[in-house]
Amino acid sequence: MEETPTPHAAILSSPGMGHQIPVLELAKRLITQHNIPVTILVVTTHTSPAESHLLHPPATTSLNLLRIVQLPPVDVSSLLDPAAAVVTQLCVMMRAAVPSVRSALLGLRPRPTSLIVDLFGSESLPVADEFRMAKYVYITSNAWFAALTCYCHVFDKEVVGQYVDQTEMLRIPGCKPLRPEDVVDPMLDRNDQQYKEYVRMGVEYSSAHGMLLNTWEDQDPQSLNALRSIVDVPLYPIGPLTKAAEPEATNTEVMEWLDQQPGESVLYVSFGSGGTLSGEQLTELAWGLEMSQQRFVWVVRPPIDGQVDASFFSSGNGAVSGAVDFLPDGFVDRTRNSGLIIPLWAPQMKILSHPSVGGFLSHCGWNSTLESLVNGVPIIAWPLYAEQRMNAAFLTEELGVAVRPEVLPTKEVVRREEIEEMVRSVMELERGKGMRVRAKELKISGEKALSKGGSSYNSFCEVIKDSKLRLESTKF
Ligand code: UDP
Repeated sequence: MEETPTPHAAILSSPGMGHQIPVLELAKRLITQHNIPVTILVVTTHTSPAESHLLHPPATTSLNLLRIVQLPPVDVSSLLDPAAAVVTQLCVMMRAAVPSVRSALLGLRPRPTSLIVDLFGSESLPVADEFRMAKYVYITSNAWFAALTCYCHVFDKEVVGQYVDQTEMLRIPGCKPLRPEDVVDPMLDRNDQQYKEYVRMGVEYSSAHGMLLNTWEDQDPQSLNALRSIVDVPLYPIGPLTKAAEPEATNTEVMEWLDQQPGESVLYVSFGSGGTLSGEQLTELAWGLEMSQQRFVWVVRPPIDGQVDASFFSSGNGAVSGAVDFLPDGFVDRTRNSGLIIPLWAPQMKILSHPSVGGFLSHCGWNSTLESLVNGVPIIAWPLYAEQRMNAAFLTEELGVAVRPEVLPTKEVVRREEIEEMVRSVMELERGKGMRVRAKELKISGEKALSKGGSSYNSFCEVIKDSKLRLESTKF
């Protein structure tokens, strides 16, 4: 008689900190709460120091059920136009990695019984079929974004012309309407390869046995319900999954500085792992912060004109000493008592969880968004790329925890006066009160979802039950 193998999950991660961090958190939860061994298969570019650090984490040595396998680097240079968008690059890399995913799965012992792929890994789902594994997609973002992605093939047939040129809102059935200018980056130009890849991915997600999402039932019930009627696969909202605060030793200077500041008085400014500003925008931001007279911690990267996601594949790279050279003359001296500059990369979760931090000027990457919310910190939404304009709209208009510039930072420079006004409206305690209260409510709601018996905890149990049932009915 054939024995049922023991559960072992393989999770496929695409390059980039914003993808690897939530994959690692999913793995940790499967291990620590459900005792399921996990092997993470990572496609990496080897160009980012922050990424290398993440993939050799001291914190995971206690997780003896975790293995991280870096798949052989794929050379996609001959397949890519050097100017290809980040999404195109990711898709081409993940496609080229499919044979390595197959070999890795074949070689692993014990054999993995389920395959979970992230947003960009759906072309590996058929490999799970070859090995009769359960297969899931892990949307490391929110339900509204997932609904758009899975519905885009319908828009593709119905909408004439470019999405950004539409005069009406885009309507995904059951969801809040989406402003044409807030669509995800791949939808900005329908003739670009990244658009075709995006439509394909949304269709492929439906071939999985289920969809895991890094959100929770109470965060966006409307979009979750809409998504349930768009796709015919079970949904498992399992969030908010966020990384733990970085170890004490990382950047003690900022922690010591924060210890000296009054409660909720500091604005943390960071544009994620990939975000970069133009020289002009960097100058305006510096002036806006200074004019607001609020305290701040700012993670500064050298400016790059014309590309907002320039450091996506190289997070934390660059000359530490050079980053501040681009700030206005005298800025560092004038703000010495009220502000702290951190070049390139900061221990973000440690900073956001410090009691002195009271606001986050963020590019609204989904991990940063959740990291802010799980700490009850309101946001100045400054979207740059990917699905961040949608996230900004969701945070301001649905959740009521953020303010957003009138102009799109990807199209126009946000001027210092507007920056000053936004900073004051979030940081001055009376003015920011509503947003702060709402952010704290979401913190509690997220904690409840993840605790035993909560909606995300239960979703986790359900997906594990589903994978075990599939295992029992499968003969390896
Ligand atoms: N991050 C960090 N320090 C930094 C910048 C980013 O620790 O200086 C982390 C951040 O905490 C988050 C991730 O990098 O977990 C960025 O992911 P997100 O989804 O916010 O944005 P992306 O970088 O993918 O655009």
